Amino acid sequence: MSDLRLRIAPSPTGSVHLGLCRTALFNWAYARGRGGAFVLRIEDTDRTRSTAESEAAILEGLRWLGIDWDEGPEVGGPHGPYRQSERVVGHKETVQRLVEAGYAYRCFCSAERLTELREGQEKRKETPRYDGRCRDLDPAESARRAAAGEEFTVRFRVPEGATVFEDLVRGSVRFDHGEIDDWIMLRRDGSPTYNFVVVCDDVDMRISHVFRGEEHLVNTPKQILLYEALGETVPRFGHLPLMLGTDRKKLSKRTGDTALGDYVAKGYPRDAIINFLCLQGWALDGETEVFDTATFVERFDIVDVQKAGAVFDPDKFRWLAGDTIRRMGLADLADAVAPYVVEAGQMSAEGIAARRPWFERLVAGEQERIELFGDFPPRVACFFEADDAVTFDPKAEKNARKHEARAETLQAYLGWLEGRDDLDDPASLGAATKEWVQEKGLKIPALFQPLRCVLTGQPGGRDLFDCVALLGLEATAARIRAGVARLA
Ligand code: GLU
Repeated sequence: MSDLRLRIAPSPTGSVHLGLCRTALFNWAYARGRGGAFVLRIEDTDRTRSTAESEAAILEGLRWLGIDWDEGPEVGGPHGPYRQSERVVGHKETVQRLVEAGYAYRCFCSAERLTELREGQEKRKETPRYDGRCRDLDPAESARRAAAGEEFTVRFRVPEGATVFEDLVRGSVRFDHGEIDDWIMLRRDGSPTYNFVVVCDDVDMRISHVFRGEEHLVNTPKQILLYEALGETVPRFGHLPLMLGTDRKKLSKRTGDTALGDYVAKGYPRDAIINFLCLQGWALDGETEVFDTATFVERFDIVDVQKAGAVFDPDKFRWLAGDTIRRMGLADLADAVAPYVVEAGQMSAEGIAARRPWFERLVAGEQERIELFGDFPPRVACFFEADDAVTFDPKAEKNARKHEARAETLQAYLGWLEGRDDLDDPASLGAATKEWVQEKGLKIPALFQPLRCVLTGQPGGRDLFDCVALLGLEATAARIRAGVARLA
């Protein structure tokens, strides 16, 4: 078995953020492309903010993206449990060991004292940090006070010097220990902090590579010092560039949707979401924007990830979505838009199944025009309106009213149409209609503009004779008759 072991360690505290999806994709692809293992660990130590719903959403979101894990919740594995909250016993033993060895110490400073300390430092414009009062407490006294029931936190004793490491994305990174506080490993209530447990769990799970968002870069020296104190091998780190909004600030709800679910709900195709996320900090060859997941897995290397922040371009995302839709097979596209049609109340799932060829024709006419599955229902709304109450777009109505003889033209055309048997064949009906228009000595718009208005209410859109085919003779005739009256 390969020693290459990657993981993601999401905290189940909210919706499934796109940043998490990208981190998952990059770790997963790296493992899959190199025969390594990919582990999912749920970091639910923040008991007040973690929820079962959020954890379920993470699992579902990853599966939806096609990301599978070799070890983790629901699949198990030899290094479980894979929920951090179930691992606290091991965490406590480790703290005990580090305190005994002098790498960590108990801090009995009260919350009030620490607040005062911080406020004083802030007033003097100093970086808030612990002043080390309990750092050199006699170990025997420390043990006695703890045994007597005095409350304490456990802090890591940051030594003098500096930590330097080779980040696979950022190159050599250096942190002077003067910048690092004696950080808390165990809170007063005995609960462990992130920087501490993440190392314990990554050690236990034999994680070899940690790829995560740049916001964690400042945590890395603390974690490296802890690996060293534990006598464990430090994994390779790679910090992925921040995803930035178009305002160049960290992507947030302020500038747009950040949750996977929002994009799924709007109908961004899965392949487009994956493709777009791959481009957040990585490029295939600097030219090719569109590629599939298999290509990504084959070609992805962490050392090719850029350092600079990745700007999240919503227009490009939409474009990629539309491009993906245009490349879909019609049956797949029909399946994909069907739930949106049901959701919009236009048809039932059974109705769609019963009229499948009709539905595919409805979909085909929009394949070139929509960018998201969710764009579809509003674009075809006219086909589900009552024949005598089609919503007229003001521009469509204005176009129709430009033609004085619209009522006579429409009526004459209806009479001609009723005698034809090719309503189901847009190409044939279209060609014949154009001849009819010429024979009548009319210009094309004199029929087409009023006809489009009464049939669809729209100034433009799909082929007009495709609309006739979709409506059938009965509805076409009803719409023409009602439209003649409405445009009088
Ligand atoms: N629970 C952390 C987060 O959600 C994991 C960070 C890490 O990968 O170390 O950001």
